[in-house]
Amino acid sequence: VQEQFGVVHISTGQLLRNAAAQDTPLGRAVKPYTDTGRLAPDELVIAVMEDRITQPDCAEGFILDGFPRTVAQAEALTEMLDNKGVTAPRVIELAVSDEEAVRRINSRGQTSGRADDNEVVARERLDIYHQETEPILAYYRGRQHVHVINGEGTIEEVSEIFVQLFETP
Ligand code: AMP
Repeated sequence: VQEQFGVVHISTGQLLRNAAAQDTPLGRAVKPYTDTGRLAPDELVIAVMEDRITQPDCAEGFILDGFPRTVAQAEALTEMLDNKGVTAPRVIELAVSDEEAVRRINSRGQTSGRADDNEVVARERLDIYHQETEPILAYYRGRQHVHVINGEGTIEEVSEIFVQLFETP
């Protein structure tokens, strides 16, 4: 989608892991979270995102991956998008069962090199997802249509659905 439509893909997890790899105040602040799978504090993540989406490369549009992850982040995002004059953001839920998520995280653990890609941390991440992140679906459903994509298909199948969504005005 990034290549086909010229929109930037922004993964908060990747941004935070890059920050954590550096010995800076931000890096030291986020590393304990990215290493263990707990959510980094809202104020911090919101500040990082606000800075990122106001960069010039985001002018033509952007895909946020892994943000928002709490209702407070969703509220902050609504305000940020209003300020940027973004009128019709789309919300996509990529639905995957807990068991399939754990299976996938486990199988990519050897190659991802991520400290949080193992079964124990994966289950904790899922608990946090259900407690902190799932409520944002209700937040959005009260405001706009949420597109639900079955995330259990192959990469090709899921990509194809994303592309179709982007092609639909
Ligand atoms: P991800 O690559 O999306 O799985 O994110 C990896 C880790 O980065 C998470 O387990 C959190 O520690 C942190 N993280 C990523 N996105 C967020 C967010 N929106 N809010 C808080 N922490 C986040």
